[in-house]
Amino acid sequence: MTLVYIGLGSNLSDPESQIRQAIVHIKNISNSSIENISSLYFSRPMGPQNQPDYMNAVLAINTQLTALELLDQLQAIENQAGRIRKENRWGARILDLDILLFGDKVINNDRLTIPHYGMKSREFVLIPLAEITTNKLLPDGENISTLAKNIATNDLKIHSQLI
Ligand code: ATP
Ligand code: CA
Ligand code: CA
Repeated sequence: MTLVYIGLGSNLSDPESQIRQAIVHIKNISNSSIENISSLYFSRPMGPQNQPDYMNAVLAINTQLTALELLDQLQAIENQAGRIRKENRWGARILDLDILLFGDKVINNDRLTIPHYGMKSREFVLIPLAEITTNKLLPDGENISTLAKNIATNDLKIHSQLI
């Protein structure tokens, strides 16, 4: 079993229900179980500002899948939600599921960079992640709670509880 953290984001087609639906789908991934779910947060968009605000959450799962098998499952859930991949990076999307951490593995291949390359600079990842971890270190030794405490909140707010 590997303890994996997944970042969820949505800013189209009723983001709150997209995130709740995605959690139901993640619950149904084989050989995996949900261990923890953060609050649901409101966040400001990254990159292009002419798009709606986002909803974000982070969850922890235990899985027997490999990282690539899990990515396949998560991308299938994104596609099922109706996500259309566009050229413009960081544009509006129905559902985004990123693997933040996969145990303490460091993975760099064509399809995966783990830890997620952007997680240390994104308040909508670090703050929910810190909510569901205690004294957790990244593979490079940095402390998640410390990173979360020191990052600018950029108006991140708790919207509601997911459990
Ligand atoms: P960002 O990666 O900056 O958060 P994004 O989530 O919008 O942007 P996507 O279009 O969702 O980017 O993903 C592009 C590709 O990133 C995916 O096809 C996937 O192969 C790759 N990728 C690399 N590392 C990861 C990871 N840790 N989790 C999910 N996808 C990843
Ligand atoms: Ca992302
Ligand atoms: Ca993504």
